Amino acid sequence: MPTPSEITIPASLLPADGRFGSGPSRVRPAQLATLSALGATVMGTSHRQPPVRDLVRRARSGIAQLLGAPSGYEVLLGNGGSTAFWDAATFGLVRSQAHHAVYGEFSGKFASATAAAPFLRDSRITRSEPGTLAIAEATAGVDVVAWAHNETSTGVVAPVVRPSWGGEGEPPLALVDATSIAGAAPVDLTQTDVYYFAPQKVFGADGGLWLAICSPRAIARIEEIAGSERWIPESLSLAAALANSRQDQTLNTPAVATLILLVDQIEWILGNGGLDWAASRSRESSSHLYAWAERRTWASPFVAQPSHRSPVVATIDLAPEVSATEVIRVLREHGILDVFPYRKLGRNQLRVGVFPAVEPSDVRALTECIDHVVAQLLG
Ligand SMILES: *Cc1c(COP(=O)(O)O)cnc(C)c1O
Repeated sequence: MPTPSEITIPASLLPADGRFGSGPSRVRPAQLATLSALGATVMGTSHRQPPVRDLVRRARSGIAQLLGAPSGYEVLLGNGGSTAFWDAATFGLVRSQAHHAVYGEFSGKFASATAAAPFLRDSRITRSEPGTLAIAEATAGVDVVAWAHNETSTGVVAPVVRPSWGGEGEPPLALVDATSIAGAAPVDLTQTDVYYFAPQKVFGADGGLWLAICSPRAIARIEEIAGSERWIPESLSLAAALANSRQDQTLNTPAVATLILLVDQIEWILGNGGLDWAASRSRESSSHLYAWAERRTWASPFVAQPSHRSPVVATIDLAPEVSATEVIRVLREHGILDVFPYRKLGRNQLRVGVFPAVEPSDVRALTECIDHVVAQLLG
């Protein structure tokens, strides 16, 4: 049996672009060309002046158009990525208690943030095993219900549907973490109060920003809590983010390169037909991966329930006799990158990011390469 370092993949099988990360993800060469061209005039200039504010305006209006923001919904943005948004939401959106659906690392991290806040009641958590879906209910006393549209650590996609509410008074706000799927799957934003994400996944940009589409009720909640006694650090203040976003600005200096890459990707998707086009590209790639795995004796989709399989992050378990670590090492030596499983999941697994920027033909090339490597590993 050859050792992994003796295995070669013929160049004719290799994908044109070998980047399949689940975030950060493939950046299109055209995005980088825009960065280089536009960056030459905009980077290094004040974010309080029209050129950078125009980029923020294009990002906000482009996102509203791409995702079909209902009237009255506003696009907010701020620095720090989705992780900072969890803290901002803990301070600025949860009145007294949140209920989280936890079915992986990312949905779990937001639950940990609200659970640790000394000014909130203990969070309610509905948990499920990795690879399955949990759904949180709206129960009396809970004023935020939170879940992830796409759980990137396991490749589970969730419905974006408000929990039913039979209680007295106003229903809880629905906060949806769409970090790794916003822009690559259809969504009805009337089912959400806050649909938030970061630009380094579907949008192929750099990290460091968060964006959140907020309903009128979410905006009213931000204002209500900001006017209360609660101490909120300014860099995590959603009221400050709201005021600045309305001026097409951010509280403090943003990464302008990230904005340029983000705007280019939004406009690329819109120019090709919008959300349905982007979603069908990712769907084509992920469907291929799941069908391919089902036809192999040594591979299978990790997520058993087909309707819960992510269209953008495909997780594929390998049989014990095929070491994912070895497959990943051979692929990496041939320029096929970042198909490792989420580190804390600890499974013998491949995880493939198939965001809209990934060519479906490259995904077909990827599976041919994996077949080639496994055939040699199994001797
Ligand atoms: C990547 C990811 C995050 C974290 O995003 P950062 O911008 O790195 O903080 C949060 N939630 C989900 C679902 C993710 O995929």
